Amino acid sequence: MGRRWSVGLLWLALLAGPAAANETLEPELREIERLGYAAHWRESDERIQALADRQDELSREQRQRLEYVRLRNLGIAGRLEEAVEGFDRLLREEMPAKLKVKAFSTAASIAANLEDWTMAFTWLGEALSYVPEVPDDAPRVLGMASYLHSLVGETDKARELALRGLTMVEESGDQRAICHALSDLALAEELVGKHAESGRLRRRQMEVCDEAGDRIFSANARYGVGKMLAAQGRPEEGLAWVRQAQADFEESGFEAGAWSARLVVAECLIATDRELDHAHDLLVDALRYYRERDSQIAVAEAERLLADLAEHRGDPVQALRHLKGAAAASEAAERAARERQLAYLQVEFDTRLKERQIALLEAEKELAALQVTATRRRQWLLAAGVVALLATALLLVVLLHRAFLERRRYRWQSERDSLTGLLNYQQVRRLGQEAFARAHGNGRPFTAIVLDIDWFKEVNDRYGHAAGDEALRALGGWIAEVVEGRGIAGRSGGDEFTILLEGTEEDAGALLDRLRARMEAVSVFGQTVHFSISAGICQDRDSNGTLEHLVHEADQALYRAKYAGRDRTVCAGDTAPQAGGGGLVVVGSGIEFGRHISERCLSEIREAQVVFCLTDPFSLAMVQGLRPDAINLGAYYAEGKDRRITYREIDDAIMAQVRAGKRVCAVFYGHPGVFADVPHAVIRKARAEGIRARMEPGISAEACLYADLGIDPGRRGVQSMEATHFLHYDRVPDTAGLVLLWQVALSGDLSCSRFHPEREGLQALVDRLLRWYPADHEVILYEAARLPIQEPRIERLALQALPDAHYEEYTTLVIPPLGDLEPVDATGPAATGTAG
Ligand code: GH3
Ligand code: MG
Repeated sequence: MGRRWSVGLLWLALLAGPAAANETLEPELREIERLGYAAHWRESDERIQALADRQDELSREQRQRLEYVRLRNLGIAGRLEEAVEGFDRLLREEMPAKLKVKAFSTAASIAANLEDWTMAFTWLGEALSYVPEVPDDAPRVLGMASYLHSLVGETDKARELALRGLTMVEESGDQRAICHALSDLALAEELVGKHAESGRLRRRQMEVCDEAGDRIFSANARYGVGKMLAAQGRPEEGLAWVRQAQADFEESGFEAGAWSARLVVAECLIATDRELDHAHDLLVDALRYYRERDSQIAVAEAERLLADLAEHRGDPVQALRHLKGAAAASEAAERAARERQLAYLQVEFDTRLKERQIALLEAEKELAALQVTATRRRQWLLAAGVVALLATALLLVVLLHRAFLERRRYRWQSERDSLTGLLNYQQVRRLGQEAFARAHGNGRPFTAIVLDIDWFKEVNDRYGHAAGDEALRALGGWIAEVVEGRGIAGRSGGDEFTILLEGTEEDAGALLDRLRARMEAVSVFGQTVHFSISAGICQDRDSNGTLEHLVHEADQALYRAKYAGRDRTVCAGDTAPQAGGGGLVVVGSGIEFGRHISERCLSEIREAQVVFCLTDPFSLAMVQGLRPDAINLGAYYAEGKDRRITYREIDDAIMAQVRAGKRVCAVFYGHPGVFADVPHAVIRKARAEGIRARMEPGISAEACLYADLGIDPGRRGVQSMEATHFLHYDRVPDTAGLVLLWQVALSGDLSCSRFHPEREGLQALVDRLLRWYPADHEVILYEAARLPIQEPRIERLALQALPDAHYEEYTTLVIPPLGDLEPVDATGPAATGTAG
């Protein structure tokens, strides 16, 4: 009947019908579409039939719309073959893109239900290709794509597609579309095992679908919630939901849905140990239904539940029988899944990788088929099986060979520097470790060379980046030539190269001589570029040494070569004085290390032979990132130890290196010359001994304070001193200006051994300040931010509340001015200085 109808329709479609839409029949058409969507498909079908005689009054597009609803209804009613045939015909016709997308995606879904995977994926592909023309319908197609991807086991992709669909429809606000998209996403989440998330989505789906009046999808949501609850071990609650879903599906005539719901109802009944006879009947009927349709996954599920039921009833023989049935169905379902995936791969992908997967799957399928025949026809099987195996083996050999070649190519790329063809940094380190261990084991010398082009930035600036690249490429080639496989050579990054040799410092020096002799000017775009290199060499002389240390030492020697004027080689052990010789520079790390330290300080840290560091732990970590050999002066401190002793020890440690002729850099927190004795003392001593010494300023806490509090010290003037100093000397605060008292937490600590606040000290400080300030004078406790993620502490409180406040070792007390400025008495002696 359906077929006759559709043939009639096709014939009519071929006739030239009226070009314009029939406005009189349009409302009826819309009603038919509405009924179809709302799952009153029987009624919509009756109305379509009623219109059979008036087909020629409709425009072609109107007829196509009607045919679309009819075919969709066939799908819902379970007449899948007819529906697929009909769509196959309809989709060959010219029609507006919007209708095409709708028809292709519905057809794909029905073909998938019929397990015609090639058709399903072909149609899905077609639907996707029309999406750019009708972006409004993209969510529908994405939903379908998600569903089909989940069927072929591409669950992540399915989730991603469903989520994209949902995001799009949520923007549009179309309730029906949101209802469908929620269902797609819930299914995708369910398939990746996210039951709680899927349950949450199902409940939302229910609300939205109820509102949109889509009965089938509302029922589908209830079914989903019930299924999730059953899966989460809450069959009691799940039962109510799936029973409702079953009733709704039955009422809408959505057969496939009703059968799915019956399976879950049976599952919940078995789990709650009630109405077992009813559960049994449901399962037996379902089994028959699914067997007739050859729906193996569902057959396996029904068999599994029957086995559960039999076990529940203490009937192991029946349980075993059903389990076997379940296993056989699962196997068949797996075969079907493989076919599904094959269809998907054939249609969806044309990359070589996927082609290979297809070939393997085909081979696998062939093998499986051969095994089945084997049990029936032994003789024949043997020959065929051997042939198939050989073919598979041959195929695998070819595939493996190809994979091997590709892997070799990728490996080469991942180990090399693309510009120079030398090894990359990681590879130099990896191969270097092995060679280093070998040389150590055999007691043979091992030497590291680090070399870098001189003034390379200028080469780039003056001749262009292409010329710079050409210079790098040429140098890489010369290095490869002179090393000639006798060592490990690579580009460590930028214009720096590393060479590791089994040999002595002298061998390395000779190699560098050969390299310099080989180097020549490079010609690029008619320009001649000259350049030189500096190099540092270090031979391993320590039986406990590491490659890291060796390369680091060579790197340090390179810095010295640069420092000494470039275009030269320096050995790590060289004691010859370099340009500038030894000396001391004291630098400030600033308060926020990563942001406050200057380029000059960083370069001092890099180039020094010995680095000392007395900073907070974050800055220390960063300094040690630059210089792993930096010495932490914090180690000299201890709770209860007199800080004056600590200062002397630090002073001695720094001076010992300065006196040994080393180029020493000492890094201090903040500004090294503010509230710090040691930096001034060591500079004084070094100078007194005729050694060059200087200080690089840093950003101090005081500098941060003005920035954070928005105070200009120039407006009222500032008095700045240590809190303990203020407490113990006869100092009068200038109340008209800003007063800063540093390290309030340590107020009164004359022993110089405390790091924590003491109430008595703070109270004494407040008592003293009360001589000049009222008790409720607003003061500020300030702590500068030390990390980029921190905010400064700016806590305003009354002077009298200070003893109870919280303190860090570095908290500063800020006392804002009291009252207005008084002009000088014009008649007094002070006025004479400013007159004129
Ligand atoms: P120095 O003598 O102190 O080494 O001075 P320099 O100018 O060579 O300074 P440095 O080694 O720090 O500079 C390296 C420069 O190399 C920085 C960057 O502009 C340049 N560079 C890094 N990689 C490439 C690259 O792949 N191609 C080109 N053309 N230039 C690069
Ligand atoms: Mg350079």
